[in-house]
Amino acid sequence: MPKEKPVLSDAMRKKMGGKTFEKNPIKGTKYTIAISSAKGGVGKSTFASNIALALKKIGCKVGLLDADIYGPSLPKLFSINEKPSSDGKTLTPIIKYDIQCMSIGFLTEEQTPMIWRGPMVTSAIKTFTQKVMWNNLDFIIVDMPPGTGDTQLTFSQEIKMDGVIIVSTPQELALQDVKRGIKMFDKLGINIIGLIDNMSHFTGDDGKKYPIFGEGGVKRTANEFNKEFLGEIPINPEVGKQGDLGKPIVESNPDHQISKTFVNLAKKIKSIYS
Ligand code: ADP
Repeated sequence: MPKEKPVLSDAMRKKMGGKTFEKNPIKGTKYTIAISSAKGGVGKSTFASNIALALKKIGCKVGLLDADIYGPSLPKLFSINEKPSSDGKTLTPIIKYDIQCMSIGFLTEEQTPMIWRGPMVTSAIKTFTQKVMWNNLDFIIVDMPPGTGDTQLTFSQEIKMDGVIIVSTPQELALQDVKRGIKMFDKLGINIIGLIDNMSHFTGDDGKKYPIFGEGGVKRTANEFNKEFLGEIPINPEVGKQGDLGKPIVESNPDHQISKTFVNLAKKIKSIYS
């Protein structure tokens, strides 16, 4: 088996290019919470948008930063078609559902592929964290791209990150990447709030639970790495449908059981930081 490459050696973490990294909070925000998955397609953006809305519902001032430069989801998930205003130096977030929002997708045409090298991605992330006029936020939820690349490194090394929530399906293929993600955040000294099992099962019309991607894998992984298991969100067509319609389930159907699950999670997050 090929030997696993270290994400970043301890020596590198302390010192890169001869200088230590100073971590700045994102201006205008109190707490930065990243939503990460390592694997794509497991529901990370869906989770990020719904947890942002749930935090707003319980009275927090919330921002949502779509940090997925290559595959932004926020314009679709929140149905935002306008461009943010700018004075040439700073950008003003777009406010939708009372949430301050920013995404590279607001600045490009819908189907334009972002063919950018790493340094350009890093520079876009710096713009979003330093040049956006986030206003008096309790929480900024950062929807990370999949993987363990430039965006994760830029955030972890240069920005004061208060916690990460890792979203995964219970499938082995996804969990393999999650384990890499956990090791990366541990190495970078970022607090992992816990793991979420998304699309944990489907409940059929017969009332039976069908564990489509397997059972218990996320919880087992959380235990294996001594992290908190934050709970399950089942597969429900309503979740996908409302996301596609640009009004995630917590906003469009607050009485739905899944929306209540998100609100309970939001209360838990709020209690950690207050
Ligand atoms: P990622 O950000 O990890 O790439 P997305 O949030 O884009 O994943 O979700 C991938 C797909 O799965 C989308 O079509 C989304 O609507 C759907 N999805 C995510 N979570 C659920 C869920 N709990 N129930 C049903 N569909 C879901």
